[in-house]
Amino acid sequence: MALKNQYLIDLLETVKKRNAGEPEFIQAVTEVFMCLEPVVEKRPDLVEAGVFERIVEPERQIIFRVPWVDDNGKVQVNRGFRIQFNSAIGPYKGGLRLHPSVYSGIIKFLGFEQIFKNSLTTLPMGGGKGGSDFDPKGKSDGEVMRFCQSFMTELCKHIGPDCDVPAGDIGTGAREIGYMFGQYKRIRNEWSGVLTGKGLTYGGSLARTEATGFGLCYFTEEMLKANGKSFKDQTVVISGSGNVAIYATKKATEFGAKVVALSDSNGYIYDPDGIDLPVVQQIKEVERGRIKEYVDRTSHKNATYTEGCSGIWSIKCDIALPCATQNEIDADSAKKLAANGCYAVSEGANMPSTPEAIDVYFENKMLYGPAKAANAGGVATSGLEMSQNSERLSWTFEEVDAKLHGIMKEIFKSCDEAAKEFGMEGNYMAGANIAGFLKVAEAMKAQGC
Ligand code: GLU
Repeated sequence: MALKNQYLIDLLETVKKRNAGEPEFIQAVTEVFMCLEPVVEKRPDLVEAGVFERIVEPERQIIFRVPWVDDNGKVQVNRGFRIQFNSAIGPYKGGLRLHPSVYSGIIKFLGFEQIFKNSLTTLPMGGGKGGSDFDPKGKSDGEVMRFCQSFMTELCKHIGPDCDVPAGDIGTGAREIGYMFGQYKRIRNEWSGVLTGKGLTYGGSLARTEATGFGLCYFTEEMLKANGKSFKDQTVVISGSGNVAIYATKKATEFGAKVVALSDSNGYIYDPDGIDLPVVQQIKEVERGRIKEYVDRTSHKNATYTEGCSGIWSIKCDIALPCATQNEIDADSAKKLAANGCYAVSEGANMPSTPEAIDVYFENKMLYGPAKAANAGGVATSGLEMSQNSERLSWTFEEVDAKLHGIMKEIFKSCDEAAKEFGMEGNYMAGANIAGFLKVAEAMKAQGC
């Protein structure tokens, strides 16, 4: 696919110049522009209002030093980021990624995606993202605590429950959110819903932990249903073994599918008898261990472990749910999926497919559930956590889960309808980008900023 609209071609050139050295951000903008070509044609008022130029420029970017002391008494220094990308429809909202690969291009692409994702949830949330190149892997609890406290000592000056509400992402789970929340409360002397993904004893929402994975399956089930299929009796490959992958495995299994693979950054497990989820949960959630331990711990005799990650896409399956990280499926992997009969890819991670992989999905007429729609259940439930905090109430698991299910159905409907309205029926990537964009664009035009 290539851009044809001259106005968007020129604007993309400007974006490339302004953001040189940040390929992930340019990739995310290119995909959105590709899908917005019919909007440029149909809505000259939005072009006139400069909405396209404005939406690719973050409202604010904060980069800061994070000094902390390790267990040997040595001072370590990391770099912290928060990008407040767009507040047209609500306070900035988005996670904090803690991973050595983090730099401004990663945070910027994630923040940009978050604008459209949050818009699709139907809830009033703007787009933001943050994080650090700190690696929590292999660090003691004390080291993680000292890092989180130092990180929040600076970040707390820039966020607030009606301004910017961070949450988890890769490397930031309940432990990290807890330490950050404690530090915010201590500095500001204020107990508020400033972070989501909090523990259940201090303002967290039931079903937030499950939300991204469950939401992914709710969205995917809608997409399958609309095309005369369902999860029932299907073989599913899921990458990753964090929060998203674990709860996607749980819900897909409840829907009658057999999940046969999971992975981590070192390699993948293949279990033709279906993943034994309690074993995975014990290893990953309780012990913070590696996925390869699964083979010795499960009673399933046919389970195997393979070093390296890309081989997971050679496993024969009907449905693939990439839930690990950006650009984990390239054109070769996509071709292997297609050749082995996989007919649907739905994304739990953010931007897990390269543009070339997406071309392969469309060439092979596969169903494609794009991340900003398919994984929006996490941030949607964060929005529900914010509502509960503001109300000083907490809802039951069933209430939250029912709301999440309703939101995911609504998201699929918006993607489907927008794709039809703009002449791209069945292209849910185009539908997600158009529907997500239009709501934000109307608000930006009305607000003049
Ligand atoms: N990090 C998640 C995402 O990519 C959740 C963000 C949130 O809950 O604010 O959407």
